[in-house]
Order: sequence, then C-alpha cells, then structure tokens
Amino acid sequence: MGTYAITGAASGIGAATKARLEADGHRVIGVDLHNTDVNADLSTPEGRAEAIAKVTELAGESLDGFVPFAGLAAATGRPGSLMVSVNYFGAIEVLEGLYPLLAKGTNPSVVLISSNSTTCQPNWPVELAELCLAGDEAAAREAADKDPMGSYPAAKAALAYYVRTKAVADEWIGAGIRLNAIAPGLIETPMVAAGKVDPLTAEGMKMFPLPIGRGGRPEEIAELTAFLLGPTSSFFVGSVLFCDGGTDALFHAKDW
Ligand code: NAD
Repeated sequence: MGTYAITGAASGIGAATKARLEADGHRVIGVDLHNTDVNADLSTPEGRAEAIAKVTELAGESLDGFVPFAGLAAATGRPGSLMVSVNYFGAIEVLEGLYPLLAKGTNPSVVLISSNSTTCQPNWPVELAELCLAGDEAAAREAADKDPMGSYPAAKAALAYYVRTKAVADEWIGAGIRLNAIAPGLIETPMVAAGKVDPLTAEGMKMFPLPIGRGGRPEEIAELTAFLLGPTSSFFVGSVLFCDGGTDALFHAKDW
C-alpha cells in the first residue's frame, strides 16, 4: 500500500480522493486550511513551507504520490493574485518541496489539477501562464490582479504547461517520477455551488455546455486520480486528461 499526500483534502474532489485511496488501504496525508492532518495556508510561502515540513515529518522516509487539489475559483471580490498564489504556486512549491520524498517512493506519481476552462474559456492571458511557469510569483500576482476572471484558466494552463514541459526531463521521469494532469470540467462540489450563486460567475455557469447532460461527481475525478497514481497507469507520462462530460470535445473536435 502507498503513502500519498494531497492538498485540498477537506472538501470536494480532494475529500473524495482521500476517501477513495483510503478505501483501498492507502495512507493519505491531507493538507488544507482546516479540518485535516496538516492545516496550512498555501497562499503564502510560509504556509507552504509549514505544509512541506509537516508532510515530511508525517510521511517518514518516502512518498509514493502527490496531488495538489487546493484551489479557489473566480468569485466576486476575490483578487486574481490570491487565486494564482493558491492554484499555481501553492501546488508547485509544495510539489518541489516534497521532491526528495517522492524520489524515494515506490513508482512515484504526481497528478496536477488543471481545468477545462483552459480550452473552454476564451481570451485568458497567456503571459500570466508564462510568468507562473517562470516561477515569478510577484509578477504573476500583479498580472492576475488586472484580470481576475482570466487568472483562473491562466493558472490552470500553467499547471498543464508544467506537466508537459517537466514530465519528460531527467529530473522527473529520469528519477522515475511520473507527472500527469487532469483537466476536470464542471464537477458538483462546494466550489461550483458557490459559483452558481455568485453574480460574477452564475450566468457563465448556466451557459456552460455539458453534452453528458449533468455536472460531474467528485468521485468520478477521484477514480481517475487513483488510476493515475497507481501502477496500472505506468505508461502515462506528461498527459493532460480532460474529464468533463464532453465539453472540451464539443468546442475542440478537430484541434490537432
Ligand atoms: P472545493 O472548494 O470543494 O475544495 C477546494 C479546497 O481547497 C477546500 O477544501 C479549500 O479549503 C482548499 N483551499 C483553498 N484555499 C486554500 C489555501 N489557501 N490553503 C490550503 N487549502 C486551500 O473545490 P473542488 O471543486 O473540490 O476543487 C478542487 C480542485 O479542482 C481545485 O484546484 C479546482 O480548481 C479544481 N477544479 C474544479 C472543478 C469543478 O468544477 N469543481 C473544475 C476544474 C478544476
């Protein structure tokens, strides 16, 4: 059985994934603001350092996988800078801090959580995604505050770019660590429930096409995450898997 760390473990998809992995007998170290094993604020470098230190202490020698689910959606009054700090830097800084443990894991696997907003929401700022990828948090925060709506897909695109560019490098696959990403569509979680009543996002959500005829269930993403963490996904390296009830296919049938 494996030992995994996941952030955003107290709610939504993260909580469903924790439950899914624990049901299989794995040990899961949860990180979130409250109500889990490691309580830390991933929007700040200090909170990330605290999370890395506590996960390292709890994990012991090694870690077999990591999934950063912690995230915030666009919402009335929420600055783009906060979203970028949690969604991108809160994921990547903790991932890189846990690298020494992952390098000692058994078939270690990392799953980053992107979003189909990257291909379904138009006109997000590509330069913001590049600033994230370059690791320039101060400049990314400044750019994000100029476009809070666009900063969500931009930060999620940066996570996909990270997977696509780093997964094949010696540092990652050369060390036996597989990096992949999931791009979920609309999943019925507390994040989406809040978005449905927020004046900034409610209209857009109503217009969001779902060919399957319903929103996703957190357990459906948990299942895919468990697969990507486990040994039967051994040939997946650098993949970004859309799991969205058909939305991305509807918009991009022939973008190849
Ligand atoms: P959720 O709101 O249910 O869970 C998000 C969790 O992140 C919460 O427990 C919250 O406390 C935690 N979090 C937020 N800020 C934090 C911080 N500063 N430090 C530590 N933890 C923090 O949302 P969800 O829908 O389960 O989303 C999980 C992930 O999936 C997010 O990254 C989200 O962007 C992504 N995603 C969700 C959807 C969707 O439709 N629900 C679609 C695409 C991608």
